[in-house]
Amino acid sequence: MGPTHPESCSVIVVGSGLAGLAAASAALRSNANRVILLERAIKPGGNSIKASSGMNGAPTRFQNQAHPDNAFFSDTLKSAGKRGTFSAVERDQRKRLIKLLTNESAAAVNFLADEIGVDLSVVTLLGGHSVARTHRGAGRTPPGADIVMKLLQSLKGDSRFDLRTGCEVTKLIQSARSCDANGPPEIVGVEYLSDNELTSLAGPVIFATGGFAGDTDNLLAKYRPDLAGLPSSNEPRPGMHGLLSNVGATLVDMDSVQIHPTGFVDPLSTSSALKFLAAEVLRGEGGILLHNGRRFVNEIDTREHVSRAIMDLEYTSDRPRQWSVQILLDPGACRAAAPYVSFYEQKGLMSRKKVSELDGTTKKTLKDVSMAAAKHNADLFGRSTFGSWALAGDQEDDQKEVSVGWVTPVTHFTMGGIAINEHCQVLASTLGASELIVPGLWAAGELTGGIHGDNRLGGSSLLECVVFGQIAGEQAAATCRK
Ligand SMILES: Cc1cc2nc3c(=O)[nH]c(=O)nc-3n(C[C@H](O)[C@H](O)[C@H](O)COP(=O)(O)OP(=O)(O)OC[C@H]3O[C@@H](n4cnc5c(N)ncnc54)[C@H](O)[C@@H]3O)c2cc1C
Repeated sequence: MGPTHPESCSVIVVGSGLAGLAAASAALRSNANRVILLERAIKPGGNSIKASSGMNGAPTRFQNQAHPDNAFFSDTLKSAGKRGTFSAVERDQRKRLIKLLTNESAAAVNFLADEIGVDLSVVTLLGGHSVARTHRGAGRTPPGADIVMKLLQSLKGDSRFDLRTGCEVTKLIQSARSCDANGPPEIVGVEYLSDNELTSLAGPVIFATGGFAGDTDNLLAKYRPDLAGLPSSNEPRPGMHGLLSNVGATLVDMDSVQIHPTGFVDPLSTSSALKFLAAEVLRGEGGILLHNGRRFVNEIDTREHVSRAIMDLEYTSDRPRQWSVQILLDPGACRAAAPYVSFYEQKGLMSRKKVSELDGTTKKTLKDVSMAAAKHNADLFGRSTFGSWALAGDQEDDQKEVSVGWVTPVTHFTMGGIAINEHCQVLASTLGASELIVPGLWAAGELTGGIHGDNRLGGSSLLECVVFGQIAGEQAAATCRK
């Protein structure tokens, strides 16, 4: 049994990304007296606000009703790979968490659509999914921003909600006594720093501080030294995993890190550690990757494979560690990916050039690709489709325009993190028959590990924030009522 708190008890949520917001919302719906949300940044939303592809859910009313989707659990398990299968306890724990994630996914979509008013009516198929199940809106606002802003709006309408930004939690406060003689002491509150002043708060604590892909020189360097110094699609900020392991939390899968092969290098700030993603659709619609004017990989192979092929080339800078690879879209690919291309061109991340302005090696490559795209030749790298490629490989190409940008691999998502059970209680030990928890402490979102294993399916992170954030919020609010 967890600790109990007095009548006036407040639920403390740390981190205002989607996991923290979902937790706060569920705690209020579970009749918490008060929810205090602490956020170290000045603006709320974390990395969640940047999410651009969408959120998974199945079976939902927005999916194709002619083909019921029963494969979300098996797709997720397959994507998790072999991690955690060496012990039956670990394997069963992962399966239980995946079952919960996928079983609750339709309810999570319905909650956002029906109660929060988020448009999730457009459904797409992302890599690794056997069925289209990633939901986003039909408008121009990306799904992460839409979900975060609308959830925040609904929370701000509740007088029991207290959002404190610019407040960094620096310590978890432990009770002097333990609930379980074998386990760590219970957590009874936090200490946070704001304007150089330390403040203590008492109450059950939900941690939702996100992953560590942006913590290049510390946590990433510790668990994946081969990726140290890489730029990231995530905000550069420290992972908070150490704060939790200091009070007894177990870490799992910490070396499992997702890399995205194409983050844009902005010509105006080449050394920035934070990169804008070059969406996969650019390559899907025919975009090719070039090093000194030559191709070196099948651009539509897995993220892992394409990233490795780039990282096998010689890198051009080590602060951050990045490579000089060009992404090039011909006129057909530019047309097919027009909304993306024009957005990146406006931001100065891509620019137009006539084919006649390109160097001889690049022109020769374009000719070879045009032959392969028209099926006159087999592709040297085994690429089976060039999407909407339209150049013909003849003289007339010279006057046509292509769009080019500079890209490099970025760290994107960390699958590992704090071990939790199905109640989102933080585990002190995952091994052995009896599960030990850190009482008074819950965790949700990218901070946690033990679900995605080798590879997170696109769209499943926003989902895990909603599903596990809500469970954490309900559970923490329940201890206040005891
Ligand atoms: C560019 C991009 C696109 C993505 N697209 C998708 C997508 O389409 N679909 C999908 O499912 N996933 C996507 N992801 C992944 C997904 O957005 C994240 O994994 C998820 O939003 C993480 O949510 P979170 O609430 O766990 O953490 P975050 O949203 O990162 O929030 C954590 C918050 O905690 C705060 N914090 C940290 N430490 C402290 C502290 N000590 N005290 C107080 N506050 C603290 C941080 O400032 C931050 O605001 C994308 C990620 C990126 C970067």
